[in-house]
Amino acid sequence: AAKHKVTVIGSGNWGTTVAKLVAENTRDHPDIFEKDVQMWVYEENVILAKDSPHYDAAVGDAPQKLTSVINTHHENVKYLPKIALPTNVVANPSLVDAVKNSTILIFNLPHEFIGNICKQIKGHILPYARGISCIKGVTVTDDKIELICEFIGEALEIYCGALSGANIANEIANEMWCETTIAYNTPPCDLVNGTARNGAAVEEHRDSRGQVITTQLTPIPKNYPTLDHDEFHKLFNRPYFTVAMVSDVVGVSLGGALKNIVALACGFVEGHGWNMTAKTAVMRRGMLETIQFAREFYPETIQEKTFWEESAGWGDMIVSCTSARNWRYSKMAVERGVSIQEIERTELNGQKLQGISTSREVSSFLRARGVEDKYPLFKLVDGILDQKVNVEDVPKLFRK
Ligand code: NAD
Ligand code: 13P
Repeated sequence: AAKHKVTVIGSGNWGTTVAKLVAENTRDHPDIFEKDVQMWVYEENVILAKDSPHYDAAVGDAPQKLTSVINTHHENVKYLPKIALPTNVVANPSLVDAVKNSTILIFNLPHEFIGNICKQIKGHILPYARGISCIKGVTVTDDKIELICEFIGEALEIYCGALSGANIANEIANEMWCETTIAYNTPPCDLVNGTARNGAAVEEHRDSRGQVITTQLTPIPKNYPTLDHDEFHKLFNRPYFTVAMVSDVVGVSLGGALKNIVALACGFVEGHGWNMTAKTAVMRRGMLETIQFAREFYPETIQEKTFWEESAGWGDMIVSCTSARNWRYSKMAVERGVSIQEIERTELNGQKLQGISTSREVSSFLRARGVEDKYPLFKLVDGILDQKVNVEDVPKLFRK
């Protein structure tokens, strides 16, 4: 029987961490998955420092390809240093080659690059591939907004679910326990006699706005194991990474995208000199605007309980506003009196802050719809990024 081949598209801080944990699971479940996991790497040159354990005097200061350093030393020295990767993670600089013959595509890179990636792999993937997007962000064109997982699904004519949660890559890479949420609506054509493994009958396949999906998906051939919640749980769950499987792609995707705007606001507030109590007010307000956003733009499908009960909801909001990059570096920007874009350029060694572009995109979408005043915190963050509004104005949002 055939086995599922897995490719991780992206190899940043989170991309490499997810490749690690997935490769541990493909090794542990040889009945379902091929052992080797392809990891597509946006190729770049790296120079190993003299004190690196991988430093080779014969190579010296000469630049080396990141992929060859990863495949030789089993470490992503640039984006996830000091973490040993399983030897079955195979770094590949060719996107087309990395996705070839894979039935499971895990998308994990900054959201601004996803359109270009889909263009490059279209026509080169198996028609019955399935996706999981670990990307936090949204796609906005004029007055239209799309969840990233659905953008991928439409661009590639496959089904794609979403993974999101309170997840700091470095902690998970160090096997410090946490949890996450995966939203996956198993397409009816992938089910045995129309019934999911968990016994739930599945009727029509609907998109995030509740519309019946009419595009015909290519079913996974019968010689492969089925792909349902059980199999995705086996692929992602580790003793240090507890996975909850749900079906709410809206809650999981919007929770992950919008919290990055709130995290920027928390960093601004804390950089200004206020502390935890001010941040809590901002987080509360941010969650209200997040839920209001989901109610306004996904009225048919919103499941508010995801925001309250799942890691992708309040869990992610809390961790993002207290210890993630968007919070940390926006705080640093205010403390140093420089723009956050400058901090991203000078301090992050190639890593990206998703909150900046998400704030821009969400604000332009809300403006195009004429409803930006209904989202004062989101509007304020955009204004601060434009240096048109001051952090001192935050309390005005709360004045009754
Ligand atoms: P990162 O910020 O660490 O790294 C940036 C990546 O972008 C690098 O791999 C770089 O090679 C790549 N890149 C640069 N230019 C590119 C281009 N033109 N085309 C394609 N790729 C290019 O990335 P990350 O932390 O792995 O983030 C990926 C996604 O995961 C983001 O949406 C983020 O919000 C989400 N996420 C991150 C964490 C975390 O703790 N890092 C946790 C959960 C979710
Ligand atoms: P940052 O990108 O701000 O580090 O957020 C990581 C994250 O998504 C935490 O859940």
